Amino acid sequence: MTSMELACIQKDQPLSRYSTYEIGGNARFLALPRKDTDVLEVLEAAWRHGLNPLFFGMGSNLLFPDHPNPDTLFISTRSHIEITLNQERLHVAAGTPMSLLAMMGAVVGTSDFDFCFLLPGTLGGGIYMNAKYFSSHISDYIDRVYYVDLDDPRQGIRTISVEQCEFAYKRSIFQRKNWFIVSADLKLKQFPVRPEALQPFLAELDSGILENSSLQVFSNFYMRCLNRLKQEDDPTATPLRGIIADRTGKMHFEYPSCGSVFKNNYSIGEPIGKLADRLNLRGTQHGNAMISPVHGNVIQNRGGAKAEDVIYLIRIVQESIDKHFGFVPEAEVVIVS
Ligand SMILES: Cc1cc2nc3c(=O)[nH]c(=O)nc-3n(C[C@H](O)[C@H](O)[C@H](O)COP(=O)(O)OP(=O)(O)OC[C@H]3O[C@@H](n4cnc5c(N)ncnc54)[C@H](O)[C@@H]3O)c2cc1C
Repeated sequence: MTSMELACIQKDQPLSRYSTYEIGGNARFLALPRKDTDVLEVLEAAWRHGLNPLFFGMGSNLLFPDHPNPDTLFISTRSHIEITLNQERLHVAAGTPMSLLAMMGAVVGTSDFDFCFLLPGTLGGGIYMNAKYFSSHISDYIDRVYYVDLDDPRQGIRTISVEQCEFAYKRSIFQRKNWFIVSADLKLKQFPVRPEALQPFLAELDSGILENSSLQVFSNFYMRCLNRLKQEDDPTATPLRGIIADRTGKMHFEYPSCGSVFKNNYSIGEPIGKLADRLNLRGTQHGNAMISPVHGNVIQNRGGAKAEDVIYLIRIVQESIDKHFGFVPEAEVVIVS
């Protein structure tokens, strides 16, 4: 068996299956490692074959290219899900879905991770962009992050404390380093936690139910999990049901998208979505991509959109806001070249 025939490396895979945008051409190589040793083997194979590794999670905050670079080995962490309790710290693998942390809370009766419910993406992607929902940030719960420096992998797995992570609104040190986030220790405000209570959900995830990044499959899965755990009128589930109402009300799962395309610019005083609304940009279409009719900061794939359609609309919003408000909004979505 050659190194590119590792069980977790697949050839000629449509990246559209691995992004909530459902956009992206075929990757020459795609890896779905299930454990740390798989990752090391995949990295070794990449270096031996002169390929550039590109790590991602659920693909809910990125836009894959229509014609992926054949020299890139795309590596999704989504199949490596692990939560263990270690001396009052939760040790969580980067590929673990953030929504699973909220389910764990629902199982054991802690509301710490309620804000992660129906927040698409993995813990690794959440740490990279410091994911947030209203006033709660994933960085509020990070104690330590474990990573591999891809420029100097011989150093092995290294750690960095939360204070060194440079967390701020939609920012972290990981955006300016070539580091692969392996896992993190999370601190908890409430105890006790029994990660083993998650076994039934882990078994379902292990069956590959969420291997593809469809937002509808994702949201239906977690809503079903909640319904299995909590009666309709159980007051402890009220915050989570509120999140369902909020996200479905904003049509988050209706069409493929990456959520908000731009970071807000808090020095301006109004969110980007509102500025785009004031310029009547909602509903603007190019090819099969459209600025959401209900939210000016969301660009949807209305069916068969290309990356270039989305990029065109990103430029329209940037140029219009620059012309009328004097600044260029910074993209939150990571555009993979
Ligand atoms: C419908 C919808 C609603 C959303 N709502 C919110 C919201 O309320 N709040 C919010 O903050 N975001 C939101 N998002 C955006 C997205 O869910 C988050 O940014 C999430 O954290 C991305 O995780 P991911 O695993 O999908 O990352 P990906 O999209 O797979 O990757 C994003 C970036 O992180 C990097 N990355 C991912 N994993 C690793 C790793 N292990 N090591 C190093 N780099 C890594 C990738 O290289 C890429 O640059 C929403 C998205 C959608 C589609």
